[in-house]
Order: sequence, then C-alpha cells, then structure tokens
Amino acid sequence: MSLNFDLIVIGGGSGGVACARRSTEYGASVALIESDRLGGTCVIRGCVPKKLMMYAGEIGKTLSIASSFGWTNLPTHAIQHDLGKWTKRKNVEIDRLEKIYEKLLTDSNVNIFRGKAHLLDKNSIQVGDKTLTGKKVLIASGGRPETSLFPGLEKTLTSDDILNLSDTPKTLGILGSGYIATEFACIMANLGVDVNLFYRAEYPLRNFDQEIRIKMEANLKTLGIKLFPKSNFIEIERKNESFKLHTNHGHQEFNLILNALGRKPNTENLFKSCSPKLGESGEILVDSYSETSIPGVFAVGDVTDRVNLTPVAIAEGRAVAENLFNKKNYKVNHSEVASAVFTSPQIGVVGLTEEEAINCTNNKIRIYESEFNPLKNAFIEKKVKSYFKLLVDDQTEAILGAHIIGDDAAETIQTLAVAFHCGLKKTDFDKTIAVHPTSAEELVLMRKPSRIVQGKKC
Ligand code: NDP
Repeated sequence: MSLNFDLIVIGGGSGGVACARRSTEYGASVALIESDRLGGTCVIRGCVPKKLMMYAGEIGKTLSIASSFGWTNLPTHAIQHDLGKWTKRKNVEIDRLEKIYEKLLTDSNVNIFRGKAHLLDKNSIQVGDKTLTGKKVLIASGGRPETSLFPGLEKTLTSDDILNLSDTPKTLGILGSGYIATEFACIMANLGVDVNLFYRAEYPLRNFDQEIRIKMEANLKTLGIKLFPKSNFIEIERKNESFKLHTNHGHQEFNLILNALGRKPNTENLFKSCSPKLGESGEILVDSYSETSIPGVFAVGDVTDRVNLTPVAIAEGRAVAENLFNKKNYKVNHSEVASAVFTSPQIGVVGLTEEEAINCTNNKIRIYESEFNPLKNAFIEKKVKSYFKLLVDDQTEAILGAHIIGDDAAETIQTLAVAFHCGLKKTDFDKTIAVHPTSAEELVLMRKPSRIVQGKKC
C-alpha cells in the first residue's frame, strides 16, 4: 500500500472522522491515524455513554413518582441502581458504535493506521515503524482531563473512569462546576448516590447567564446534592478504599472523587521535530480556516480549544475538507453555537448572556422571563420549576440570547437555534401560534418584559 496521501488525519474522533470522510467524497486519498478507539471522546467516553447514564437516572426518578400517576403494586422495598450492570450494557452499545465508525471509514476508503502519531515535518507523520506523507495534514487529537492542578488529583477518577464503574459508590465528591461536574452530579444523585460538589466560584457554571447559575444552584440542592462553593483545593489522599479531600472547608472522606476540573489539549508527544504555534494552555493556534502556523497543517476540535463541542469539531472538520478538496471558502461561525447541559433538569442556551448582551450594544435590552411548573409536575410534591429567558434588542427586535432550564431543554434549544441562526426577531416569535400544552410554547407567549436594561457597549 502506498504511504503517500492527499490528507493525513491524526485522531479518529468526531472532527477527524468528519474531515476524513468528507475529503474522500471529493476523491482525496486519506489516511487516518488513531492510537485508541475509533469514535473519540464523544462516542467512547463522553456524550454518548454519559447520556445513556443520564437515562438510567431519569428512569429511577420516573419510577419514584409512578405512584402519583396511578401506578400500583410497585415494589415496597427501596429500588437500587446497579452501576456494574449498566456499565456492561453500555460497553456492548459502545462496541457496536465503534464498529459502525470503523465501517463508515473503511466504506469511505479511508486508510486506518493504528498507533501514536508524531509530526516530523509539515508533510510527514511517523506512526509506529511507518512514515506517512501527506500533501495536507489535519490534527484532531482532542483533549484529556487535567490531572496536575494540586497534589493527589491524579489519584481520582476522571469522567472516563466514572463511565466504567463496576459498583455504585455510596458517597461521591465532585470537583468543579462546569459541564462535566454538574452533569455527573445530577446523574449520580438520580442514581441514589450521596453527591458533594466542590467548586471555586460562588455559583456553578461560570460563563452561563447569572439567572441560570442561581437557579441551577437551587436545582442541585433540590436533588439533595451538598454544595461547597468558594472551595480552595489543597490535597487528596488515597486511604485504602476511600479518598480524603482537603479543602478550605476541612477534610472530607468519600468512596470516590471525580475530577471535573477541565480538560487540556491532547498534544503530548505529537510534535517531535516540528510544532505549530501553541497557546498558553498548549492548544494549537489556528486561523479562521483552522490552519495552523504551519501552512498546509490544519487543526480542529478540542485540541484547538475554541468551542469544545462535538458538533463544532464536526463542522470544523468538514469545512477543512470542503475548502481543501471542493474549492469552498467555509469558515465556522463559533458565535452562534447553541449548547445544552444534561443536568436535571436540562439547560439549553444560545446567544449572549445578559452581561454579554449589555456589553455588545448601546440599545436598550428587553428581558423576558417566564418561570412555571411544567404540567408533569402537577401530581408531584417536590416541584422543580422551568425557566425561560429571552434577551431582545429593543431597537432592532433581534433575539440576542435565549436561556432555558427545564425538561427537554436540549431538544427545545436545538429548534430555537435554527430561528436564532436565521435572525428571527421577537416580533416573529409573537406571530407564531403556540403548540399546546408544551413548555416550549412559553417562547412565543412572552408578552411583557420583566425588565429593561440599558446596553453599555464600550
Ligand atoms: P469546564 O470548563 O466546563 O469546567 C471546568 C471546571 O473546572 C470549572 O468549574 C472550573 O472552575 C474548574 N477549574 C478549572 N481549573 C481550576 C483550578 N485551577 N482550580 C479550581 N477549579 C478549576 O470543563 P469540563 O471539564 O466540565 O468540560 C470540558 C469541555 O467538554 C467543556 O468545555 C465542554 O464544552 C465539553 N463538554 C460539553 C458537554 C455538553 O455539551 N453537554 C458535556 C461535557 C463536556 P471555574 O468555573 O471557576 O473556572
């Protein structure tokens, strides 16, 4: 087999696979190098298994309210979740998905090479005892958990590990309050685990809209999660079957501790004699076409630390393929990306936070808010309200941002993201007839702003 290709892709995750397959569609010869499993973080140890675990928690929650909805003859003893059983079933599913990924690549005539890649020069990559040459190179090597922030952190579980547990822990400490921390806090609480969340900020989910952060804090408490804001991490000790966490709040022992203190770009040993420019956190610096400081070498996805989301990596990877092999001139717009946090209830956001909106215009901003009990809560004692917030430019009627907490917020925000992308105005929302009875109908029923704030663009 020739070892010369039009494109060499490093990394068989979402971004790499998307670029490789789109490139072969246009006749390019492509090699893809992967040292681990095909599918990357999202499929193997991220979004997909996490959501399967989220369903496990939600099913438990549904069972706990079943009697309110008329179900009888339910088990009288407390039901329990068996994480080991879930892990085995999850592994079968992930193996199946990995095989699909491999088949998609081979059916697309992508040549797969197994092993660690090392960039020798702008056209040459070493993998094992082979040297591949490529007219172009794409680095899509992803990210990995940060484990060196303070002593003992390396002894704890990462999100990779928590998806592979063989037993359900009784007590769990979680460090951080970003996406991974809040999602697993809710999932584990729904599975019956005693969850303790430690984070350095005053509220969880930094960079989210302040209202969302405040309501999220309340929702975490409602789930029975113990919160330790303003935490200063000192050390973690491993003690036989438990872990001892030392913070400014004192010393606490847990069966397990999850490190959710962020991830870093995966560039370890990637660059031997040749390296593109890297940023402060080791991320590969790229221009708006995802080209690195080395002409002809591109990078997409988490390794570039732009917007670290699977669909963004896919869009970036496809844009590179289109530009290289289909004469397009695509740039990915990172400012309009909607996202969801799979907490309980979920969060969906698109566009600017209130603070960002104030700083981006001199116009007045109308803030529409709606907080309500979804219909599903009608028979439930422990009610968690849904919350919708729309930010509207008073002069142009443009929707500047939308923030939702509620069941299925992830599904709602996906649809809303289309309207946002098309630049629909508040007046368009007002003209849209509601779908009833839904929670999402609130989006087209908000008539009076709860507040009006003045934009203060510098
Ligand atoms: P996040 O950036 O969301 O959260 C990192 C957390 O670690 C924050 O609470 C942060 O605190 C804290 N932290 C970082 N450094 C320190 C430090 N030195 N001392 C104390 N605390 C620290 O990262 P995650 O690891 O949760 O997720 C990684 C990426 O994966 C995210 O960027 C996200 O885009 C993606 N992801 C997306 C999901 C989704 O779409 N649903 C799900 C899971 C992950 P502070 O807030 O104070 O800075």
